[in-house]
Amino acid sequence: MAVVGVLALQGSYNEHLAALRRIGVRGVEVRKPEQLLGLDSLIIPGGESTTMAKLANYHNLFPALREFVSGGKPVWGTCAGLIFLANKAVGGQELVGGLDCTVHRNFFGSQLQSFETELSVPKLAEKEGGNETCRGVFIRAPAILDVGSDVEILADCPVPANRPSITISSGEGDEEEVYSKDRVIVAVRQGNILATAFHPELTSDSRWHRFFLDMDKESHAKAFSALSLSSSS
Ligand code: GLN
Repeated sequence: MAVVGVLALQGSYNEHLAALRRIGVRGVEVRKPEQLLGLDSLIIPGGESTTMAKLANYHNLFPALREFVSGGKPVWGTCAGLIFLANKAVGGQELVGGLDCTVHRNFFGSQLQSFETELSVPKLAEKEGGNETCRGVFIRAPAILDVGSDVEILADCPVPANRPSITISSGEGDEEEVYSKDRVIVAVRQGNILATAFHPELTSDSRWHRFFLDMDKESHAKAFSALSLSSSS
């Protein structure tokens, strides 16, 4: 049975562990680099990404997390976890990286601008049939401003009217620019990386967790066929 690690430094890791339990999957808390060894996949939960980065540095986790992501095993970042996985964050901060995109950490504004909305996610219905909408719980949420060509967009949402105007310069000497599109990307997949700006672990809908576990199965199937190819040659 798959063993899913959940980074347990801060934030909504207990909620992810409970969501995994609901679908009969064993999740284990990860706080130290050596605890990543032997895992099949990893969830990086929501919380507060700068605090999480400080704790990750304290535990010397960044190199091991980067190795885990580049090693190709499935990794899912929700909210602050999405920020961790991005290659670039507006304003800069230490990141794990791997996901070819730029994020804005507080795209939708402050805690007071937290909101819930229905999202349309055709991929969820493609996998399981049924309804393609899901509840998106956005808590002081980030959003994805742009993605590279290898990144599949799974969901976007309208930019709420009450959101403060934000500049989207990357902190690397770019010209200041205001985000002016009327929709913004909130869920993506790039190979072994899944990222959502919202919190499926705070709903009773298990489809995102099952979607992630399917990525785990796919990666096992790939490893198995590579192994049988190499042993038959
Ligand atoms: N905006 C937060 C951050 O900067 C993330 C919020 C969340 O994970 N709910 O880390």
